[in-house]
Amino acid sequence: NRKFFVGGNWKMNGSTDSISDLVNSFNQGVMSQSVEVVIGAPYVYIPLLASTLRKDIAISAQNCFTKASGAYTGEISADMLKDVGATWVILGHSERRSIFKESDFFIAEKTKYALSVGLKVIFCCGESLEERESNNTMNVVERQLEALIATISPADYENVVIAYEPVWAIGTGKVASPEQAQEVHAHIRTFIKERVSSDVAQNIRIIYGGSVNEKNSNVTATQTDVDGFLVGGASLKPSFFEIVNV
Ligand code: 13P
Repeated sequence: NRKFFVGGNWKMNGSTDSISDLVNSFNQGVMSQSVEVVIGAPYVYIPLLASTLRKDIAISAQNCFTKASGAYTGEISADMLKDVGATWVILGHSERRSIFKESDFFIAEKTKYALSVGLKVIFCCGESLEERESNNTMNVVERQLEALIATISPADYENVVIAYEPVWAIGTGKVASPEQAQEVHAHIRTFIKERVSSDVAQNIRIIYGGSVNEKNSNVTATQTDVDGFLVGGASLKPSFFEIVNV
């Protein structure tokens, strides 16, 4: 009963021209009603998507701050995102964690604030290659989730999707095997069952991200605890719709 979820994360890519072309293509694509589709765009293109993208695809930002407004030069609030037509936000992406040094606590606080204004959240977690090779995958993912669990309430999970994105698989072409993804997803679901509730664990969607494309998505999609994908590079092409319809 968990609706399949396919998110596109455009990261810092696109222009008015290229995005308009992509929207044209997506708008003509045939899409099953049994999948939920969300596009994560750079802030400045959200209004363009809000006015041109088909309404059965939701719009997401890729970050936001923990306050509504104020003296926070350069930041964008969850309230502003809602105002211009986003209904989702991606938080805790590994690029935010590593390049911008965002802490588990900061990400949890952002999540709490975004949920409080009514945005839905794609909460990202995942281990680096070094962490996997030192057998710390589950520890790392648990630590990242622990901060979230300590910060939001059980009712909040209704508006959260967890994206498991192993850092070694992001943008590398080294997709996790279906078994590797399933193993961590099952672990995350059990962890949530133990730390939140079995109800939340059963209903929350856990999606996989990292080098997903239209050629490798079909087998992973059939894994018991894989409820969808968060797609980077392959969401910038018309063939993204092949993943949507996997
Ligand atoms: P790629 O699909 O380009 O590997 O990126 C994955 C990702 O980081 C999605 O958030």
